[in-house]
Amino acid sequence: MPVRNYTYYDYTLSLCPKCLKRIDAKIVFEDDKVYMLKRCPEHGNSKVLIADDIAYYKNSRNYNKPSETPYKFNTKTDYGCPYDCGLCPDHEQHSCLTVIEITDRCNLTCPTCYAGSSPFYGRHRTLDEVKKMLDSIVRNEKEPDVVQLSGGEPTEHPDFFEILSYAKSLPIRHLMLNTNGIKIAKDKDFVNELKKYTPDFEIYLQFDSFEDDILKELRGAHLSEIRKQAIANLNEVNLSTTLVVTLQKGLNDHEIGKIIDYALLQKCVRGVTFQPTQIAGRLQNFNPETDRMTLTEVRRKILEQTAIFNPDDLLPVPCNPDALVMGYALKLAGEVFPLTRYINPNDLLDNSKNTIIYEQDEQLKGKMIDLFSTGNSVEVAEENLKSILCCLPHIDAPHLGYDNLFRIIIMQFIDAYNFDVRAIKKSCVHIVDKDYKIIPFETMNLFYRDDKKARLKVLRNEIKF
Ligand code: SF4
Ligand code: SF4
Ligand SMILES: [Zn+2]
Repeated sequence: MPVRNYTYYDYTLSLCPKCLKRIDAKIVFEDDKVYMLKRCPEHGNSKVLIADDIAYYKNSRNYNKPSETPYKFNTKTDYGCPYDCGLCPDHEQHSCLTVIEITDRCNLTCPTCYAGSSPFYGRHRTLDEVKKMLDSIVRNEKEPDVVQLSGGEPTEHPDFFEILSYAKSLPIRHLMLNTNGIKIAKDKDFVNELKKYTPDFEIYLQFDSFEDDILKELRGAHLSEIRKQAIANLNEVNLSTTLVVTLQKGLNDHEIGKIIDYALLQKCVRGVTFQPTQIAGRLQNFNPETDRMTLTEVRRKILEQTAIFNPDDLLPVPCNPDALVMGYALKLAGEVFPLTRYINPNDLLDNSKNTIIYEQDEQLKGKMIDLFSTGNSVEVAEENLKSILCCLPHIDAPHLGYDNLFRIIIMQFIDAYNFDVRAIKKSCVHIVDKDYKIIPFETMNLFYRDDKKARLKVLRNEIKF
């Protein structure tokens, strides 16, 4: 009897990367890898690598927890996912992190930029518009977990500090500034001014490579000195910083370990977030056939390139397990220990297991889920960690502070290639749009950003009710 050369695992809806039509997709296992097989009636068959670790891929399905929804939805579910963003009532996770793009303008023109920013593109949102956008986040979330000021380059906005002050006046738990660091490197007074917005304020700093040639390819400029100076200035005032690394296969993925080692030595740095390039917006030095990188490949490289973490330390995040991996380490007296050496969150988070030693302790389990959640800053995590350590009498670390915690995140944003309607509904990183809707980060860059909306209109018109 003929036998297929793969094992059929699941079925979902995806998108044709050419025409963005919703099409059927099979998830299959072949050669120890996970692939998506799709067929567009117009553009034919395609096969996309979505993970290179079957065990991890299957295990991530066990990390679901009941969805938390926003207090308010902004659209109706009419055309079907992903054509109704949003958030429409069919969405399965509230905004753990909401991005607000206060300007389209940037002082760089990176060859890789999902927002297509440049010094001349678009405009700054007015102060009034920005306030309304922030208000709409608060309307949806009441007390938003994390709001990230972004752009373009937000520090270029003429009303930047007014915006920061207004955001601070709202019941937002944690505020982040997403920046390329040029202003931070060049202007110490600016950094001192930023420091006044702490606590619950953090810098999300673009940091892709140590090598100027690579930075030139990704960012269009030699930025390595700028990066070093920015870190020096942030260290000086100990302003909490997460390094954000956009990863491209064969370009900078050999630097993962080096970046983690460097980050661990910087006083101000609380963690590193790795983001494989999303195929969206301006993407000049990138071939989707060869340069796409999956979440499991990044995880594997972290394990290969550092001695700190082992596979049990880097776990799916329960609010959006397909897209996010998280790992915590403690920095104690010059040494680094993954949190999971003390406690196995796998046992606590994995709903499929029923032989959990801590299972009776629902309180502890809840705290662990809080710790491993996207809508959490390292600052908030410190509180959770302290309370977890109290529950475990054999751990003696009474003087743990914010400076002792270090967090690794892998954040893979779905694009048209690996789009999975099952997973997109759990997206928890959202963008507040110019029309005050709240759109998942991934679908924003595919359908809802400026010039993308025309295609969405055509696709909607083709849908028959
Ligand atoms: S991605 Fe979410 S908000 Fe958008 S259409 Fe799908 S369920 Fe609705
Ligand atoms: S990627 Fe960031 S720094 Fe580069 S052009 Fe876009 S907004 Fe500016
Ligand atoms: Zn097509």
